[in-house]
Amino acid sequence: METPQSPLSLEYRIGEGLSRLAVVLRVDEWNRAKASGLNPTQLAILGLLEGRGDDGLGVKEVAAHLGVSQPTATDSINALERKNHVAKHPGVTDKRAVRVALTADGLAAIGQTNREQSLAGQALAALGAGEREDLLLALVKMIRHLQETGAIPVQRMCVSCRYFAPFAHADTARPHHCKFVDAAFGQRELRIDCRDHLEADPSSRAATWDAFQAG
Ligand code: SF4
Repeated sequence: METPQSPLSLEYRIGEGLSRLAVVLRVDEWNRAKASGLNPTQLAILGLLEGRGDDGLGVKEVAAHLGVSQPTATDSINALERKNHVAKHPGVTDKRAVRVALTADGLAAIGQTNREQSLAGQALAALGAGEREDLLLALVKMIRHLQETGAIPVQRMCVSCRYFAPFAHADTARPHHCKFVDAAFGQRELRIDCRDHLEADPSSRAATWDAFQAG
C-alpha cells in the first residue's frame, strides 16, 4: 500500500498551491472562451492547432494533448467545424485518418481572447522579474519530465526543439541560440509553445537537456 503523503510535506503543500491555481486557470479559460462564443475545450483545440499548418493534427493527437477521450475531442471538433473554425481533411499517408486544421475564422476567434487581463496574469504581475524567470524554468523542467515519461505528448518547447542550441553564447543575458531565426536569446525567452518548433528525436532531446542543465 502506498504511504500517504504528509500534509506538512513541501510536495503536498506545493500540490495544494497548484490545485488552487488550477481553479483560477479554469475560471480564466471559461472567461476567454466566452469572449469568443466557445467553451474551454473548443478554445484549447484552436490554440493547439495554431501554427500547425494546413495538415493540422489527427483527432487522436488532439485528444492526447488535451487529456480527453477521443469521442470528447471528436464532439468538440465537430462543433468547431460547424462554426467554420476548423476544417477536416484526409491524412496524406493514411486517407482514412481524419486531420483537423485551423481556418482563418478559427484564428480570428483566438485573437478575440486576452490572456494578459486574466486572473492568473494579474497574479504573475505580482511577482518580481527574477521570480517569474525562476517559475518559467521550473515549469519547463516539470513539463519536460512529464513529456519524457510519456505522461503528456512532446510539447513545442525550446528544450525539445531541433533548432535549440543551449548556452551557445558567452553573453549571460542571451546565452541560447535559436537556429530557426538565427538569433541569441535569454532564459526568460524560453518558449513553452512555439509555433516554429520542430521536434528533435529522443536522443537529441536528451543531449540538449544535458547541455541545458550543465549551463
Ligand atoms: S524555433 Fe521556437 S522552440 Fe525552437 S528554439 Fe527557436 S524559439 Fe525555441
